[in-house]
Amino acid sequence: MATRQPLIAGNWKMNLNHLEAIALVQKIAFALPEKYFAKVEVAVLPPFTDIRSVQTLVDGDKLLLRYGAQDLSPHDSGAHTGDVSGPMLAKLGCTYVTVGHSERREHHGEDDDLVNRKVRAALKHGITPILCVGEQLEVREQGGHVEHCNSQLIAGLKGLKAEQVRDVVIAYEPVWAIGTGRVATPADAQEVCAALRARLAEKYGDEIAGGVRILYGGSVKSGNIGDLVKQDDVDGALVGGASLDGEEFAKLCALA
Ligand code: PEP
Repeated sequence: MATRQPLIAGNWKMNLNHLEAIALVQKIAFALPEKYFAKVEVAVLPPFTDIRSVQTLVDGDKLLLRYGAQDLSPHDSGAHTGDVSGPMLAKLGCTYVTVGHSERREHHGEDDDLVNRKVRAALKHGITPILCVGEQLEVREQGGHVEHCNSQLIAGLKGLKAEQVRDVVIAYEPVWAIGTGRVATPADAQEVCAALRARLAEKYGDEIAGGVRILYGGSVKSGNIGDLVKQDDVDGALVGGASLDGEEFAKLCALA
């Protein structure tokens, strides 16, 4: 069976200026001993304006923390006012970028086709996309959650070769659990993460599916991470609110 290194990624959303970013990264680095990073990979995903400061700190102090962005343009350059491209993020040393977060799907009208183009743009520039999928409450209540997530998964990965899929991280984030304090039960998280892996196996083979990391996201905290990551198909977490508090985030990472 493939061994998958757990990943805990902190999505800061539109919070913290670059000075606050430095303070938070210092807190996290201070709280987590170096040996911890051999076991679990930890990443922060600050707003674009903070990335250069985070890079300077990580490089300067040789921190083992990874960092990335919350979005990218499907284009490499050109007349796309306000957008930030894959080459720009790659130049800043970004390891990860979230793609298709439900807030972008909902507030910016991002559809599966655009999400897919962003996934491909990230891979083209050597950045690992964290492809977010997840159902709204009504979909879950009607029992359509697995089908919905599998459909977003396949659409997001469209056109990729199996070897490329190996380099993608998937985040199962039920929309009703994001920022609500209503975390999915470990069994609910496992049900969807296992279904996503099974769908990957069907399309790309067992070997690829067994190596892809699938995270759970939605109201994760130090008090609930332990039971979530005990699930066979949950390989870590995408953490929003709780990633803004250095002590809480480090505690949560230590329990993963
Ligand atoms: C997120 O925004 O990806 C998220 C999971 O948020 P929260 O942890 O605050 O629910």
